[in-house]
Amino acid sequence: SNVFFRPIEKINAVIESYPKGIAGFRRYLEIMDTEPDIKDKANALEVASLRGDIDFKDVSFGYDENRKVLEHINLNVKAGETIAFVGPSGAGKTTICSLLPRFYDVTGGGISIDGTDIRELKLISLRKQIGIVQQDVFLFSGTIKENIAYGKLDAELTEIWEAARRAHLEELIQSLPDGMDTVIGERGVKLSGGQKQRLAIARMFLKNPPILILDEATSALDTETEAAIQQSLADLSVGRTTLVIAHRLTTIKNADRIMVVTEEGITEEGRHEDLVNAGGTYSRLYQAQYNA
Ligand code: ATP
Repeated sequence: SNVFFRPIEKINAVIESYPKGIAGFRRYLEIMDTEPDIKDKANALEVASLRGDIDFKDVSFGYDENRKVLEHINLNVKAGETIAFVGPSGAGKTTICSLLPRFYDVTGGGISIDGTDIRELKLISLRKQIGIVQQDVFLFSGTIKENIAYGKLDAELTEIWEAARRAHLEELIQSLPDGMDTVIGERGVKLSGGQKQRLAIARMFLKNPPILILDEATSALDTETEAAIQQSLADLSVGRTTLVIAHRLTTIKNADRIMVVTEEGITEEGRHEDLVNAGGTYSRLYQAQYNA
């Protein structure tokens, strides 16, 4: 299930009641920073920019008190590394990733970035360091320019074009009647699934966070689009710590490390070949899924 959807759903309702444009985006960010359950502690730290070393130490978590979803999770990710989480549905891959931007707080243990517990950081500071690309791309009614600039509200037009170029959106935008000022959404041009994903990727190039969370789409795009988007995501993840909730074999094979998440926690980790040869859960999942 998609844990990230919850906070976004909340925000969506509010955005629609505000006039579109920059004021609307500001409002969005304010809400992102004032989620009711999670608050800044007194004297929370502002950080300009982090390297992206991530450490989960003996992390436990449950959505309700009676049922732990994660227990004693230990995970150390070096800045720049790409980690793929694989495993059966409901095992907790999304949950692990949703703890990093503090959509929920751990109930035991702690998570640190560059050695600082994330609960010591201002929420706005923390979330500036983390970019999330998920399958349900959040777009609002407004122009393409505004939708990309949502990654960085004070972006210059040249930066927005650069982000579009890196996400391979440039040609599409140039072909539209009003270019960057083309209105999309309900009252404008409808974007395809693949185009929406590219727009989300362009936002992330603009936001330029040291840490990325990619929630890979389970629903298939056509093969060509899929390959192109995989390439854009691979470009985006260069030089960033990347956590992928993985469903695609290409991503999994290219990860620096694969974490197998089961009901028992992280039960195996390593590179693709090593895990296939180990003949454990991963090799069984791999054979079942890909008939290899
Ligand atoms: P999938 O591959 O299907 O996305 P997953 O490995 O990402 O699965 P999670 O979505 O992290 O698994 O779910 C882990 C467990 O937590 C599941 O039992 C799920 O039902 C439960 N869960 C997930 N989100 C919530 C929520 N918002 N409230 C309560 N329980 C939840």
